[in-house]
Amino acid sequence: MAKKQFKAESKRLLDLMINSIYTNKEIFLREIISNASDAIDKLCYLSLTDEGVGMDREDFRIDVIADKAARTITVRDNGIGMSREECENNLGVIAKSGSYQFKDSMDPEHREDLSIIGQFGVGFYSAFMVSDEVTVITKRYGSDEAVKWQSRGADGYTVTEAERDGVGTDVIMHIKPDTDDEVFGSYLEVWKLKALIKKYSDYVRWPIKMDVEHQERFETGEKNDDGSPKYEYRMVTENETINSMVPIWQRSKTEVTDDDCIAYYKEKNHGRKDPCALVRVNAEGTVSYKAMLFIPGEQNEGVYYGDAKGGITLYSNGVMIMEKCDNLVHDYFEFVKGIVDSPDLSLNISREILQHDRQLKVIGQNLEKKIKGELEKMMKEDRPKYEEFFRNFGVHLKCGICDEYGRYKDFLRDLLIFYTSEDRQITLKEYVENMPESQKVIYYAASDSVKHAMSLPQCEQVRSRGFELIYLTSALDEMVVENLREQGGKSFCNVVTDDLGFETDEEKKAAEERDIANKEFLDFVVSSSNERVKKAKLSSKPGSLPCCLTTEGGVTLEMEKYFRYGPNEEMRSIRANRVLELNPDHAAVKALQNAYENDREKAASLTGVLLSLAEIMAGVEIEDPAAFVGQVSELF
Ligand code: ADP
Repeated sequence: MAKKQFKAESKRLLDLMINSIYTNKEIFLREIISNASDAIDKLCYLSLTDEGVGMDREDFRIDVIADKAARTITVRDNGIGMSREECENNLGVIAKSGSYQFKDSMDPEHREDLSIIGQFGVGFYSAFMVSDEVTVITKRYGSDEAVKWQSRGADGYTVTEAERDGVGTDVIMHIKPDTDDEVFGSYLEVWKLKALIKKYSDYVRWPIKMDVEHQERFETGEKNDDGSPKYEYRMVTENETINSMVPIWQRSKTEVTDDDCIAYYKEKNHGRKDPCALVRVNAEGTVSYKAMLFIPGEQNEGVYYGDAKGGITLYSNGVMIMEKCDNLVHDYFEFVKGIVDSPDLSLNISREILQHDRQLKVIGQNLEKKIKGELEKMMKEDRPKYEEFFRNFGVHLKCGICDEYGRYKDFLRDLLIFYTSEDRQITLKEYVENMPESQKVIYYAASDSVKHAMSLPQCEQVRSRGFELIYLTSALDEMVVENLREQGGKSFCNVVTDDLGFETDEEKKAAEERDIANKEFLDFVVSSSNERVKKAKLSSKPGSLPCCLTTEGGVTLEMEKYFRYGPNEEMRSIRANRVLELNPDHAAVKALQNAYENDREKAASLTGVLLSLAEIMAGVEIEDPAAFVGQVSELF
């Protein structure tokens, strides 16, 4: 019988499919089962108005039959079936939805690029990724004739008459021989098929049935010596429904409690801690979807290795279309886990298409608002819980502030909390609301721990005026502040580097004049520091202490520490411009000035001591501890 040829574009796709290097071949089963499910949907819908269908809802089913000897997998449905014409139209040409994109992407540059297969679902054709021959035996509802469509791939297909009891479709896939690289035969294993059904088709509305063998204990009829019945085991085959069918997120809130959702989450996450928040959405409108999202109760180590990224799984009407969809919400919410199910999403979605999908964008934006709302609620109603959440995932929000040059900062800023000198964690908004009238700026001190930041001499002056101080404990925190720029019109003041604003203009002028008058002495301090500082000045910043270390310019001491672990030498060698600030009223500084006048050698040694003390207070490593110990010992 003459072979019919596929339409040109289908042929091309088939070629690609057959020689596919596409790694995700296992999706073929999902595609074929989804078609079966759609076909049942159609007949079920007809049965509502057409009594002739003669089927009840419970009668519909999909069977998956593996025959190892024949090396075939059959997916059988009792759906609407196809007429001869439909077979030709539907299976002879590439699926309409996919074909448009396919044609579009077939610019000459990509013609030979097999990886484009991954860019869209390919429905029925995906069977050819694992099969060397596909046979479809189908009988359309309302037709007497059954049809057999058969193809070995790109060279064409045949359509002949066939026999079939009842309406519906059998898709019989003859599995390719194993190669060195791929064991296609593994798809014939019941456990494998079961796993694939569970993974991709667990929530298909219709029962997916398979014969599954298991051991059964039975009484032999004989008795043991003690009179108890004797048992033996035998293998029995049972026809089981593999999928769970109704997804928990598809059910209404009255049917399924929040506790049920949490139990589901724990089961899926291997019984770990309760999530700290649950977001359930049932949206109807331009884009309809259901979502069940969880904010985990604990940090998953994987977060730092990237494998906990994008914990949201996408479904379309119960069919899983993407396992970890990392484009749905921005990275700052990547710790959120859960499910989004929308009938408006096509199965033909891929990570590449996803980025441009308008509907998904809308869903993503809505979900982000819901997640943020839930976090704000938690912050208001249960602060300790929020603090725990922030300990776990605050770093994602902080990174979000710095991402894309601060594009998301206004969306996220009220979710940040900072530890302050009042021994509490507050948002910047709360900080500004609590500011006394006389306070003009937001004071912060950066160091590697709260404890250390607290002990910085520069903080003393701020605290002594009754102003609250924010303690930043990482370089990332400083970048956050830099990106935020201001809060409620108030700018930030780094107590280490910036002018604290406590001096009057006259005082400032007097200080400048004092530095000029002491220029020689200050130059001496710098030159005897062996390049450890760029500048020295007399100032009130050290408070009651003799000295402190500050910086000038964009790089702070915290940033310097951060850069030290940078990827290249250039970054690792970045240094802050250090300034040694000396308190002219302190006895130690007076002693230094005295030594400068009378004994330069001693003055150099005392400079070394003060500088090391300033470094210790600033939390930076002293370059030469032995020299420091020597210098201090000489003082006795
Ligand atoms: P899509 O499902 O995206 O339309 P496919 O290539 O998977 O693309 O299928 C093409 C068409 O073939 C379907 O739209 C449907 O009309 C028909 N078809 C495929 N499988 C079946 C089936 N089991 N029963 C009835 N029709 C089917």
